[in-house]
Amino acid sequence: MHVKEAEIVMSAVDPKQYPDTGFAEIALAGRSNVGKSSFINKLINRKALARTSSKPGKTQTLNFYLINNSFYFVDVPGYGYAKVSKTERAKWGQMLETYFTQRDTLRHVFLVVDFRHEPTEDDIQMKDFIEYYNLPYSVIATKCDKIPRGKWNQHFYRIKKALNIPSDESLIMFSKETGEGFEKAWTLIEGILAE
Ligand code: GDP
Repeated sequence: MHVKEAEIVMSAVDPKQYPDTGFAEIALAGRSNVGKSSFINKLINRKALARTSSKPGKTQTLNFYLINNSFYFVDVPGYGYAKVSKTERAKWGQMLETYFTQRDTLRHVFLVVDFRHEPTEDDIQMKDFIEYYNLPYSVIATKCDKIPRGKWNQHFYRIKKALNIPSDESLIMFSKETGEGFEKAWTLIEGILAE
């Protein structure tokens, strides 16, 4: 897909603020700082449309990015940020639950994890959450440029096992530095949108 247009449409907390165009949505969930904004920016060939966060956990809204006037990437706020209060965390959980359960246009979730590390408890919880709500999902393991190629297989299968991912196709290695996974990610997105 050639991206002709990409724009930030809105930040929303409440369903009343979600866009009402009816376009398909692909959500991105993952820990703060894992590389969600960088993933979006790389896919749409922009340096910084999606805000890359220098302050993890500060984005407590759902951010909708309209792509080619045909679908949205929805960046959901990062989890696993120790410094947010219990109240903040509860509010965040509520917002996510509302979005995941009530949004008819949500087609697919990308769970973004760090290729370098074993998935955390937070990653596993998020995956369970996504499965609990029966949402189709894939896993993007990003920052793979930081691992030497000789170790890619080992990291790949460690993540696949820890998250109990059914097929190799549902786990995509990605890098905003080298563009690894760019084509695979777009092929996946095109498939999702064609369903
Ligand atoms: P977000 O909080 O999930 O949106 O994460 P960001 O996209 O803001 O990325 C957090 C940090 O990780 C930034 O310093 C990025 O430059 C860096 N980063 C993100 N993706 C990659 C990647 O593929 N490779 C490398 N080397 N760094 C990355």
